[in-house]
Amino acid sequence: MARYDHVHESLETNLLHAGRPQPAIEGAVITPIFQSANYLMGQESEYGQVRYIRLNNSPNHQTLHARLAAIEGTEAALVTSSGMAAITSSILTFAHAGDHVLAHESLYGGTQSWLQHDVPNLGLSYTPVDGRRASTWEAALRPETKIFYLEAITNPMLHVLDLEAAVRFARQHGLVTLIDNTFASPVNFRPAQIGIDIVLHSATKYLNGHSDIVAGVVAGSQAHVDAVRNIVNHLGGALDPHACYLLERGMKTLALRVGRQNDNALGLAKFLVSHPKVRAVQYPGLETDPGYPTARKLFRGFGGMLSFYTHTAAQASHVLDNLRIPLHAASLGAVESLVVRPSRSSHLGLSPEERAQQGITDELIRVSVGIEALDELIADFDRALQGAS
Ligand code: PLP
Repeated sequence: MARYDHVHESLETNLLHAGRPQPAIEGAVITPIFQSANYLMGQESEYGQVRYIRLNNSPNHQTLHARLAAIEGTEAALVTSSGMAAITSSILTFAHAGDHVLAHESLYGGTQSWLQHDVPNLGLSYTPVDGRRASTWEAALRPETKIFYLEAITNPMLHVLDLEAAVRFARQHGLVTLIDNTFASPVNFRPAQIGIDIVLHSATKYLNGHSDIVAGVVAGSQAHVDAVRNIVNHLGGALDPHACYLLERGMKTLALRVGRQNDNALGLAKFLVSHPKVRAVQYPGLETDPGYPTARKLFRGFGGMLSFYTHTAAQASHVLDNLRIPLHAASLGAVESLVVRPSRSSHLGLSPEERAQQGITDELIRVSVGIEALDELIADFDRALQGAS
């Protein structure tokens, strides 16, 4: 039987080598795709040990679990069929009927819409709070509060939350902290290092980086990950081995891609902030951004995501229609730049009032900055903005 416990010091090396099957299976340099739903029985003593794709335990899964734990700096990790499977299964693991969840008020639209519209049907309640204002949290706390749910950099407003205060608050009140680390990626931020309990990802985005799979990640202590694994196994949120193979391949270049995306996004944000057709830019790498001091303290880089407002909705439409390099498409974190209007995509599940309350208006454009040449990207945005009247 191969072992998967091979780990190095640095994130860069671990992205390539952590969790490699030892010895290499048939001498293969990469993990071959184990496209077998089931396996011959061995000495299994519990259900989770029975080898079956839904139980997320092929060699493709085991390699990824060890690699992801190494790069997030956690004891254990688990891949899931999507980011939403990771998020929903984790929340359902740590909060049950009668329990209460605290969450930042402006989250990825899928998460927020599920918390707002579906979670109450399961007997759970949820209160949005401003994750940047620690003084307001105590008032929302209830005896039955179990979870504090956060995003490292929020989608699409690019808020950086008071993460260290959230860890202190959660410990004081016995809450489990869950963070969606998709926007930062482990290259820029490893939440377990400041004491966050559960780290979640849509691996569809930066971890894979090539817009060709949907996948999710849960990372944390062995006990926490085992508890989530039990729910994922029952809900059926396993990742297919072929998608595991693509994720393993994509992750190899994560550090290179994100380093370049950090640089490109900072360059583009600095250009946009002084453009006359731009009303405001949200990017935690700008010194004027309210999230800058926390981002500077906790993050290695400021990330590849930014959003900006034009003065009118018509101008935003013009920009989206006239950009030549970025593709007008949902999702994010890929090598190619993408632009989208969150009010018409990720946050369509919220009512117009809910969107307006969070500043998600038709003038807001979110940019997932890719690895193209920065001067060409800037020239493209300049040309598209110049023509917007
Ligand atoms: N979290 C964030 C920040 C996202 O942007 C998304 C998707 O856009 C998700 C979670 C959901 O991930 P998935 O689409 O892989 O289910």
